[in-house]
Amino acid sequence: MKHNLKGTSLAQMRQLMTDHGHAPYRGDQIFQWIWQKHAHGFTVMTNLSKDIRVLFAEQYRICGLTVSDTISSQDGAVKYMMTTEDNHTIETVFITEEKRTTVCVSTQVGCPLNCSFCATGLMGFTRNLRAYEIADQVRTVQEKTGARITNIVLMGMGEPLLNVQEVLAALEICCAPNGLGISQRHTTLSTAGIIDGMKTLLASSLKVKLAVSLNFPDVKMRTQMMPVTKSNPLAEVLNLARAYSIRKSMVTFEYVLIDRINDRIQDARLLLRLIKGIRSKINLIPYNPHPRLPYRRPDEARIARFHEYLLDSPHTVTLRRSKGQEIMAACGQLCHLLVHSTEAVS
Ligand code: SAH
Repeated sequence: MKHNLKGTSLAQMRQLMTDHGHAPYRGDQIFQWIWQKHAHGFTVMTNLSKDIRVLFAEQYRICGLTVSDTISSQDGAVKYMMTTEDNHTIETVFITEEKRTTVCVSTQVGCPLNCSFCATGLMGFTRNLRAYEIADQVRTVQEKTGARITNIVLMGMGEPLLNVQEVLAALEICCAPNGLGISQRHTTLSTAGIIDGMKTLLASSLKVKLAVSLNFPDVKMRTQMMPVTKSNPLAEVLNLARAYSIRKSMVTFEYVLIDRINDRIQDARLLLRLIKGIRSKINLIPYNPHPRLPYRRPDEARIARFHEYLLDSPHTVTLRRSKGQEIMAACGQLCHLLVHSTEAVS
């Protein structure tokens, strides 16, 4: 099969042009055609000579994800089901709020972490996504909607830091001026806390925002609900988050509020003690239920009580109202196989 140029980084594309006897900037041009002008073939690349276009069409192809289904919710979220070349389906969510347009991107097919409250875990894990498959989710949404994408969040299916090399390469495509041109400050990587991956991200030149899904300040409970804690001790995760906030940018601690599990004032107190001295924001996410999982969202009074307790702290606290719940597109609800089968029986 012809080599797929979508999997080629900008540096590799420049080298490729040099290898073919052309100036490296020709590589920039092809890169822009692919990532900015949504080219799916070479004929449209009119700023390249006919010879190059013909030669490249013979030797290469440009293939990414295909959209197999789209589901829209009343509140402005759209869920895209995207299919990879080897026929796996992943989910990408497009969220519009006033001036901000956000793409929530998947980094793996399924997820190996098995957090007990998250629907993606129910799917099991199939494989890591390649860098171009991660970046192509953003490009595809841009192509389909015509919107200028302002923000990216790596909060879809999968654990980004278990696929760190491909994720870093994808972010380079997303944030490069020759690529999708999205600002690193508007790009957030969310992790359940993978120590090796956090170290790699710290050592990289990227300055994207980091969000750590803390969720359960009690280590025993966290280990139960998020088994990843066993091999990635929370204390070390927090030390790395602290280092990130000092060397790169303020971190966010995500906290999924689950009824009677982690929504007591003593949990809030423990949370503040744990993150004391770390330049950070707290993002509260009231739990989004899933038909196959036993957990519930706390009532409004319990959410408000927890929120208010935190407001006295030095941290900025936000309460995220997830969009797309009715179409199972909100945080922790991405799990197409099961959602579809439940719809079929109900
Ligand atoms: N694996 C990464 C990114 C995917 S999950 C991580 O753990 O950060 C993105 C966010 O959704 C995480 O903060 C996670 O804790 C949260 N989440 C998972 N299931 C949820 C649910 N059912 N309701 C609300 N948030 C959920």
